Amino acid sequence: MSTTPAPATGPLIVAKFGGTSVADYAAMCRSANIVIANPNTKIVLISACSGVTNLLIELANGISDSILRQQLLQQLADIHQQIINQLQQPQTVSSAIDTLLDDIASAAAQAAIKPSSQLTDQLVSHGELLSTHLFNQILIELGATAVRFDIRNVMRTDAQFGKAVPQPERIRQLAQQHLLPLLANQIVISQGFIGCDDQGNTTTLGRGGSDYSAALIAEAVDATTLEIWTDVPGMYTTDPRITAAAKPIKEISFSEASEMANFGAKILHPSTLVPAIRQQIPVFVGSSKAPQQGGTWIRKTVEQAPLFRALALRGNQTMVTLTSLNMFHAYGFLAEVFRILAEHKISVDLITTSEVSVSLTLDQTDTGGGAPTLPLAAVEQLNQLCRVEIEQGLSLVALIGNRMSDSKGSAKHIFGALDAYNLRLICYGASPHNLCFLVNETDAKSVVSTLHQQLLE
Ligand code: ADP
Ligand code: ASP
Ligand code: MG
Repeated sequence: MSTTPAPATGPLIVAKFGGTSVADYAAMCRSANIVIANPNTKIVLISACSGVTNLLIELANGISDSILRQQLLQQLADIHQQIINQLQQPQTVSSAIDTLLDDIASAAAQAAIKPSSQLTDQLVSHGELLSTHLFNQILIELGATAVRFDIRNVMRTDAQFGKAVPQPERIRQLAQQHLLPLLANQIVISQGFIGCDDQGNTTTLGRGGSDYSAALIAEAVDATTLEIWTDVPGMYTTDPRITAAAKPIKEISFSEASEMANFGAKILHPSTLVPAIRQQIPVFVGSSKAPQQGGTWIRKTVEQAPLFRALALRGNQTMVTLTSLNMFHAYGFLAEVFRILAEHKISVDLITTSEVSVSLTLDQTDTGGGAPTLPLAAVEQLNQLCRVEIEQGLSLVALIGNRMSDSKGSAKHIFGALDAYNLRLICYGASPHNLCFLVNETDAKSVVSTLHQQLLE
């Protein structure tokens, strides 16, 4: 998709540091030292300090109790003040930070009267706007030549607040124009997660979106490597918080890692690998707390393609079951269902069908959070067509591997291990890389641990 030739800059690394990697002064210093250690790292995108986005979303949802609102604002101020207190030259950033905190206070007061998704994005973007001031100053104090850059000059998106869709061609054009010229003799520090629509309104890419931002920028500047620095040394066979038996993966293919990200391995935002794959940029995932431990390389081709690779878990699933006898041997029923869903901009994730019913899960990607729901108007329209049942309290378990549906006996192996559990909406065979199903939220972790023990240990 290249429109402008890549400049002859040699190796160019785009690095992203997540919330825990910039949580406080010590974490920011560790991350800054990783940047300084590799002179090829020229663009650094960071998240808000750990916990800040959650506080901002609470404020954006509208808190009318002014005492409670003040407490949250104070917590936000404290997180940033503790970092400022440890700077050698706090005065270089303190007035910019104060201005941003004042903006947050007035937007939060506005949200208490009338919250909106546009206001939410504007408010929530302040997390990254704050953290980049501090991180930039820390890099400078550690001896680097760095400049803070507002990514909204480059990260062009549509206007779907809370889950804005980036425009890669436009981002490339803007990055070549405004970002690349800055790289000649300095490191650019900028914000993940946030963007800007054509009208100049601030947008966000959805929770965890900084990974995606970094991949989009890596694509736009023809980076040679994308580094994702987080709190674990790479991608594991499952979330190490679920089982201590999870093992790090040294090398994994783009397709397997995309499935993991898609199916809820929180370590990567689901869309992160899309730009990396488009431009064939290898991705490294490592821990900013322990860079010496190495991490995971995600590439097009890898040496090993094991039958079972990893397990991912995604909570907060909403399952919708639509039943109608009219579906029996009829045509056009599903087309009508999807027409209604599309009309309400509802994105479907998984789907299974029988002769008289169809079950599907709803996508959850926006910044607001929580389990996705069907808007009342959509339910009313669907009700004209069929019976509608909505269930929540479910989790999606995905097993990622290679050629699973071609391999004799693997289904017996997998389902045999799960005799004791009630599995719903099983999807198997549509992709050679995954098998997934829903379970009750209360069973989810033990299902993953049991499968991990049977298939991956
Ligand atoms: P960051 O703030 O750096 O973006 P996240 O919290 O979004 O970090 O992602 C890192 C977390 O992802 C880890 O702490 C871990 O609990 C979780 N995680 C989920 N699945 C995996 C996996 N397969 N391998 C490693 N970590 C995983
Ligand atoms: N700060 C945002 C969030 O917490 C984006 C990110 O960390 O990737 O979701
Ligand atoms: Mg993340």
